[in-house]
Amino acid sequence: MLERGEVANSWRHERWDSLRLLTPNWQNRFPAGFRYDGREPDGYLTGAEVVELIGRFAAHVQAPVKTNATVTSVRRVNDRYRLTTSRDEFAARTVVIASGACNRPSVPAFADSIPAEVEQLTTFEYRNPTQLPDGGVLVVGASATGVQLAAELRQFGRPVILSVGEHVRLPRTYRGRDVLWWMDASGVWDQRYDELDDLSRARRLPSPQLAGTPERATIDLNALTVMGIELVGRWATVRDGRALFSGGLRNVCSLADLKMERLLNAFDAWALIDGSSSEVAAPERFPPTQTAPTTRLDLDLRSGEIGTVVWATGYRPDYGWLDVAVLDAKGNLCHDGGAVDSPGLYALGLPVLRRRKSTFIHGIEDDARDVIDHLAGYLAGRAAAPRARRASSGR
Ligand SMILES: Cc1cc2nc3c(=O)[nH]c(=O)nc-3n(C[C@H](O)[C@H](O)[C@H](O)COP(=O)(O)OP(=O)(O)OC[C@H]3O[C@@H](n4cnc5c(N)ncnc54)[C@H](O)[C@@H]3O)c2cc1C
Repeated sequence: MLERGEVANSWRHERWDSLRLLTPNWQNRFPAGFRYDGREPDGYLTGAEVVELIGRFAAHVQAPVKTNATVTSVRRVNDRYRLTTSRDEFAARTVVIASGACNRPSVPAFADSIPAEVEQLTTFEYRNPTQLPDGGVLVVGASATGVQLAAELRQFGRPVILSVGEHVRLPRTYRGRDVLWWMDASGVWDQRYDELDDLSRARRLPSPQLAGTPERATIDLNALTVMGIELVGRWATVRDGRALFSGGLRNVCSLADLKMERLLNAFDAWALIDGSSSEVAAPERFPPTQTAPTTRLDLDLRSGEIGTVVWATGYRPDYGWLDVAVLDAKGNLCHDGGAVDSPGLYALGLPVLRRRKSTFIHGIEDDARDVIDHLAGYLAGRAAAPRARRASSGR
């Protein structure tokens, strides 16, 4: 196992100070039977606690990690892969790419046209509100990262505008249980990649508007409006020093409301069939997202109203070191359930790799089992077809 930094590197160096997992502690399940075993199963770990937990897991399974070993090149030479690292060079018949789905911030090209007097920060640079210059903050993106940072900055006393595009609205709790309990118990997390109607769309879905707070608070757009955050539409471009926003805020919010409603209906239907209805509270419905009758369509970035733009517009992987022709035009890895389009090359930890839960900590166990099964078949000379294989522990 080659790691350019230390164990749990992304959790050590690529997260802001206040971040807590949005997945509850009971869900922190790792392979080899390793589980969160603390006293707060319904709580949410801080970044430091995640580092500690992953460190304990690495020790538990005696993971053979070579730290400070950056992979700088992987090439296919005959039937082997030639790996060059910052420490040495060697050949391998198989390679598993587990370098993460969130190596780089995804920032639109028009960021270059923002006037120089406005500071720009990505979520890789943001640590806490004290680091920002005075003035208002424009947070771009209303998924898990964006809503968490907008709330934090507002609570710190900053005027905050949040630019909202397509998003996934979820209540923190539903019928008395964490909404992720419902995702887990009803089998939504376990939905397989080869059973989804639109896999490429599922892989592009933004993260849900959730935060892990001790109060188990819902952090949807209504909650942010109550805090005094101004909502505007999707940021379309910059022209003559002005930010231009889409007028479609109401539409994206209605769509998110509708999708949440459908998901809650599906949970209710599942609970009836499963017999869980009597163990949970009564069905709930949530008010639609409130939007102002008119929202700003533009903002003068030179007026001084906004001192900082915080980009919470998503992440992308970085395969700058991969010298094998397996990337599509958008730089994503071409793979079928983790079997990359080059013999002996595999991937783990990418969105909906084999299941909806693939990029979450608890999602790796089932995916890893399937992918390693395929890899073992490859090494043994068996022709393996990942699509034909059923999940070993799927529902
Ligand atoms: C802001 C944020 C919040 C999240 N919150 C949650 C949550 O609440 N719950 C949850 O389950 N998941 C959450 N996730 C998803 C989380 O990242 C994954 O669950 C988990 O960390 C993925 O592990 P991974 O090992 O696949 O990827 P990573 O954690 O990204 O690990 C990849 C590793 O590869 C190393 N690496 C990369 N390139 C190279 C190279 N060329 N050479 C050597 N080493 C390299 C990196 O240093 C890194 O340590 C969150 C992600 C983000 C970005």
